[in-house]
Amino acid sequence: MTTASTATETSATSGPETADVVVVGAGFSGLYALYRLRKLNLKVVCFEAGDGVGGTWYWNRYPGARVDIESMQYSYSFDDDLQQEWRWPEYFSPQADLEGYANHVADRFGLREQIRFNARVNRLRWDEQAGRWHVSTERGDHVVARYIVAASGALDATNIPDFPGLDSFRGEWHHTSQWPKEKVSFAGKRVGLIGTGSTGLQATTEIGKTAGHLYVFQRTPAYSLPANNRPLPADYEREWKEHYADRRAEMSRNFALGYLPVQQYGSVFDYSPEERTRILEQAWAQRNGLLFLRTFTDTMMSLEANEVVAEFIRGKIREIVKDPEVAELLCPKTYPVGTKRICMDTGYFETFNRPNVTLVDVRSNPITEITPTGLRTTAGEYDLDLLILATGFDAVTGSLTRMNVTGVGGTDLREKWAERPTNFLGFMVAGFPNLFMIHGPGSPGVLAQMITGGEWQVDWAADVIQDLDRNGYASIDTTDAAEQGWAAEMAEMAAKTLYQHANSWYVGANIPGKPRYFMIYIGGFDQYKRRCGEQVSKGYEGFVLTKDKRRTA
Ligand code: NAP
Repeated sequence: MTTASTATETSATSGPETADVVVVGAGFSGLYALYRLRKLNLKVVCFEAGDGVGGTWYWNRYPGARVDIESMQYSYSFDDDLQQEWRWPEYFSPQADLEGYANHVADRFGLREQIRFNARVNRLRWDEQAGRWHVSTERGDHVVARYIVAASGALDATNIPDFPGLDSFRGEWHHTSQWPKEKVSFAGKRVGLIGTGSTGLQATTEIGKTAGHLYVFQRTPAYSLPANNRPLPADYEREWKEHYADRRAEMSRNFALGYLPVQQYGSVFDYSPEERTRILEQAWAQRNGLLFLRTFTDTMMSLEANEVVAEFIRGKIREIVKDPEVAELLCPKTYPVGTKRICMDTGYFETFNRPNVTLVDVRSNPITEITPTGLRTTAGEYDLDLLILATGFDAVTGSLTRMNVTGVGGTDLREKWAERPTNFLGFMVAGFPNLFMIHGPGSPGVLAQMITGGEWQVDWAADVIQDLDRNGYASIDTTDAAEQGWAAEMAEMAAKTLYQHANSWYVGANIPGKPRYFMIYIGGFDQYKRRCGEQVSKGYEGFVLTKDKRRTA
């Protein structure tokens, strides 16, 4: 630990409202942060851009939106009464149930009164002299706080590609993550949908059922596995609830914070081609989505092993899709399976057997412009009444860089991250003291189960704040050297995996001009927790703690 002793006078209290902590975002992590920090008797204010709670599950209300992790796991663990009393109707909950759950939690724990809704944070400025953060919102709030917990979401900043002519489109258009609350009707309409990631797949499947005609504009096909979703049987729920404590404990110890009671079969190459197919067929039929990728131990470590699994999935697509040309276009061939977030679907490939659904290849014939009446590619023109952008997010860093954050010496976070989004332990950026990031770059965030991961990160930040207060420190920062060490540790681990072989949002490749860098800590949550714990137990090694002069004088 390095300590410094700089002036930390308080700012004038007669000015803006003051708080101990500002939490940005009332998604699942933000709600838990409010709950947890309030228990420390801190004054906490939460700013939320939307008019309701739920974050991702508030914004992404497009048709078909559904989680891809079982709800018995993808839910809060902090309160046993909550997890015992809440009932999930299906294995994988739709958006409405997740939003309902977030609202229930906000009400049950009385969190709502501390949340300022319709208040998008558009400025975070560190005042070095006062040792305080100034937080401003688009609607004019101004709060001065000691700490920031940025729970602003890894998949929050909408990516709207710069399509020429988008503003000229005379029909209705929506990005899937800004979907209107009012029901959108597709009946009798010519609908265009751009993007075939997890969102595009779910929306296509649902919209294809009722659209007059649906054109799906695909640049890169996705690997998708059957979700095998169904109503949650009462005995399954009962069993989970009886063993919740043990299962949560087990989940908290593994790399993805998931409950993974499935057999792994060793290397793909331990088996003959016939045996592999038999094992994969069984897994395809029985394993819920993501568990399928864990069938063999080397799927994510060896290109050759990965190709066996990828080709099995392509075989499934060719079986399902009747038109062989369409099937071939839907087969992903340019990146290993699992190196972009694997999708889960409920009849996506079957949708292309419908007469009212057309797949358009915009890899060979890119989109050139949106016209007042539709969309033009280098090969043709499509008349549309409704256009849907399922084009994803400026992931992991976007919600932070779009907040206009300046730290010590007025350094802008965007400038600091111009070459790569470095930080230490995924929590803290050097020169931006007292700002804790949840699910930011450098954390396992999106590669683990995010509700439980968020709870753990919030707990860590809350414990640090408590520790600082107890020991008379005013601020915590980290160093460039610590950041570089963390970046090297992350890069070394990522280099051993296949993730570098895909142009994914994990590496920022989906956003023009974004630095290409594997942003996620890939060592697993178990190892991540150990590393964070080590740094604290070694006296906050890699951090700089500054004494509160008023308390030591
Ligand atoms: P995404 O995975 O980034 O997919 C965006 C899609 O838009 C891609 O197919 C991309 O093509 C396409 N695209 C972007 N710009 C384009 C352009 N200029 N022209 C043509 N196509 C363009 O975004 P997402 O589907 O919203 O998913 C993001 C993440 O959210 C997922 O990976 C997942 O982690 C999460 N999510 C989860 C669920 C779930 O739990 N079930 C559901 C939805 C989302 P390229 O691939 O060629 O760039």
